[in-house]
Amino acid sequence: MARVVVIGAGMGGLAAAARLAAAGHRVTVAEAASTYGGKLGTTRLGPFTFDTGPSLLTLPQVYRDLFADTGAPLDELLEIVPAEPACHYRFADGTTFDMPHAMAEVGPEMSRVFGPAAARQWTNLMTDAARTWALVEDPVLRRPLRLPELLRHSAHPRHLHRIAPWRTLRGLGRKWLTDPRLRMLLDRYATYSGSDPRRLPAVMSVVPYIEQRFGGWYVRGGLRRLADALHTRCTELGVDFRFDTPVSAVRTTGGGVRGVAVSDGGLLDADIVVSNADATHLYEDLLQDRRARGPRRALGAATPSLSGFVLLLGLRGRTPEPRHHRVLFPADYDAEFDDIFGDRPRPVADPAVYVCSPTDPATAPEGHEAWFVLVNAPRQGPVDWTRAGVADDYADHVLAVLARRGLDVRDRIVHRAVRTPADWQHDTGAAGGSLYGTSSNGTRAAFLRPANRSPLPGLYLVGGSAHPGGGLPLVALSAKIVAGLVGHA
Ligand SMILES: Cc1cc2nc3c(=O)[nH]c(=O)nc-3n(C[C@H](O)[C@H](O)[C@H](O)COP(=O)(O)OP(=O)(O)OC[C@H]3O[C@@H](n4cnc5c(N)ncnc54)[C@H](O)[C@@H]3O)c2cc1C
Repeated sequence: MARVVVIGAGMGGLAAAARLAAAGHRVTVAEAASTYGGKLGTTRLGPFTFDTGPSLLTLPQVYRDLFADTGAPLDELLEIVPAEPACHYRFADGTTFDMPHAMAEVGPEMSRVFGPAAARQWTNLMTDAARTWALVEDPVLRRPLRLPELLRHSAHPRHLHRIAPWRTLRGLGRKWLTDPRLRMLLDRYATYSGSDPRRLPAVMSVVPYIEQRFGGWYVRGGLRRLADALHTRCTELGVDFRFDTPVSAVRTTGGGVRGVAVSDGGLLDADIVVSNADATHLYEDLLQDRRARGPRRALGAATPSLSGFVLLLGLRGRTPEPRHHRVLFPADYDAEFDDIFGDRPRPVADPAVYVCSPTDPATAPEGHEAWFVLVNAPRQGPVDWTRAGVADDYADHVLAVLARRGLDVRDRIVHRAVRTPADWQHDTGAAGGSLYGTSSNGTRAAFLRPANRSPLPGLYLVGGSAHPGGGLPLVALSAKIVAGLVGHA
């Protein structure tokens, strides 16, 4: 039995703690905040309850596996329900499209809205993405990323042609799709990894495929319940949680790790340290060891993922034709990525606006709605979101954009709060408030992302800033990889 310390109780940290405790290790989690869940947060404004982070659960099977591997099945604990339609899209020319939850219905619905030729092109693209998924799912998402193995795996010319790291998602859209609205729809999936479609490798066409093939899901009562259930599972397995306990350093010997120092001056001894803290924070602040130089250099060469600006709105009254997820596109989507990733980052002037308004009585009183509004945003640093007036003025701006696109809720607001990139940085330790660690921008992105096994014996990385990347399913997969690397007691 090893003594394991997990730094951080985000979903990756919780999932690693559960798996390692179930494997017979003695696990302590040191969390800087006063609660678990990290970015999968929740807040109340008056009678309204909001998920403050994720609003869409994809690949729920990953969490089903986690719960089945560590105790009672997930479906005995939570009700995971489909979003139907998967998402309502509105384009700048006024076209609206409800993406069905069931993959078989996507083609017919697209045909009705965009015409049979455009629908056929999308279906062909998804068929192609299915082949890519079959090729990358296991070696890229379920294992530690090792270049020699990957090269061996993709050495077949057909495989290399399919992965084609030099091709971008934008290029793929140009190749397969002629309708500019469907090209825009495809581009949007780049933001699921916090990236720019013009620099994102085409292999990421698996993202829309995964959403359509395996569906988009909601957890009744709010996605935060997933964190509640996982925290409960950890305590049942004997995991010791220390909240309000920021780790200030990873202690090492010539051989490897020997524990972590916590901010009150104490030391938690450990044979294994699993860091769920943002990898930049780990390698820049917590680890004073020459073996951290390589990962630090790689992080310096990677593009951080975009951040997000969130408006939480408690609204009086009901919106006609309610939809769980809506995306309202701008006319010029490229301008958004220029504002975020360009030389002079600034809050996006004409952003795509995402609205999540669950019709779930747990979130709002009768006759009211709780809205989570998200727009992509440049990180804290290049833009100072803490400067007086910046956040509030931008919130007013986003509300005006929504109104221009047909959703004017300004006279229905009962409660309003904002979350900026500075808040994500402050509350979860994410460098610059990046939502997904490093972006997938560029051919080398997957190899610049920190590995799950650090160069220091006994130190592992889990969560959105490590392999295989951000988002709820991937951080749980990273925990499975780490548990596999550590092994049984
Ligand atoms: C607004 C928003 C919307 C999102 N939407 C979606 C979505 O719809 N679907 C989806 O799948 N994903 C979404 N994501 C991404 C998803 O939330 C993250 O990828 C995932 O939750 C990150 O989990 P993690 O394990 O990396 O840990 P994090 O949530 O980053 O948590 C890390 C934890 O480590 C703690 N910590 C850091 N440093 C220290 C230290 N020194 N000592 C002790 N503790 C420390 C932090 O306090 C925190 O609790 C969204 C994120 C945000 C913010």
